[in-house]
Amino acid sequence: MRLLLVEDDAMIGEAIRAGLRREGFAVDWVYDGESASQVLRTEEFDLLLLDLGLPRKGGLQVLTDTRARGQELPVLIITARDAVCDRIQGLDAGADDYLVKPFDLDELAARIRALLRRKSGRIAPLVEHLGVILDAAAHRVMRDGREIALSPREFALLQLLMERPGTILSRARIEERLYGWGEEVESNAVEVHIHGLRRKLGADYILNVRGVGYRVRPA
Ligand code: CA
Repeated sequence: MRLLLVEDDAMIGEAIRAGLRREGFAVDWVYDGESASQVLRTEEFDLLLLDLGLPRKGGLQVLTDTRARGQELPVLIITARDAVCDRIQGLDAGADDYLVKPFDLDELAARIRALLRRKSGRIAPLVEHLGVILDAAAHRVMRDGREIALSPREFALLQLLMERPGTILSRARIEERLYGWGEEVESNAVEVHIHGLRRKLGADYILNVRGVGYRVRPA
């Protein structure tokens, strides 16, 4: 899952990015509202983490513009402004949730997972497909009551594929979702992770649609 973080405070931004990467999210980070709007116009994200007090363009304006363009990605506002009127304004402008700084990183990650769940139309925190159960919150994958140990990237890739079992994902799209800017991606990285998943889940669990991409085997 790929997130855009908009935060002008270097220390807070670094802590959030590091914490969420540890949770397996790909996090791209911009420092001002104008850059956020530019990036949101051209790239696709699963969720927006938005500070309100930002240089060049306020977070509220970024949010209003995003919704005006018809973009429906979940938006979580993270801000030091704890005044009630700011929260109301943010939610009324189209934010989905609100967290007041300072906050706990575990809580932030849990709220993000909840928003992503809602976005995908799922209520249950578990994804199940052909006997494989993925628990996003606990970072665990189970089959036949046994845990299957995956690397963080393998886990993120499997989650991507299991969330949309009918969809074929191209290598480029997988790379885009798995890696943030500036993260070095080996040219065969996706193939390596696919290979790892097949070794652990069975060769036919993930299908390669020649020239198109990858999907999980249909039920
Ligand atoms: Ca700020």
